Amino acid sequence: MPVHERITYRIAIDASLCNGCNNCTTACPVNAVLGEDERFDTEEDPRVIAIKNGVAVVINPFRCDGDGVCMIVCPQNCISIEFIPLDEYIEVERETSKT
Ligand code: SF4
Ligand code: SF4
Repeated sequence: MPVHERITYRIAIDASLCNGCNNCTTACPVNAVLGEDERFDTEEDPRVIAIKNGVAVVINPFRCDGDGVCMIVCPQNCISIEFIPLDEYIEVERETSKT
């Protein structure tokens, strides 16, 4: 299996620093190609990052391609990206979803 298929990405947002400016959500290329605004407040919201209650949150981590654009445009430096093995990531997500 090629290396890129064994590695995935996890972005983390420090909500205590986020000012809700929306830069990350509008700059994210995955968010940008997804379509109409009316889909965004549904349970099927397909974006990677969205603003909820005034701060940015990661809502679909598996859609993130790890390009780091959100990190670059964030004026608060509150976004970080980890590069981690896919197996480990899936296990962590599974454990997280149980809590
Ligand atoms: S790393 Fe790229 S794809 Fe992932 S949330 Fe940030 S801008 Fe979007
Ligand atoms: S760019 Fe940074 S400060 Fe602005 S909404 Fe995103 S995480 Fe928050």
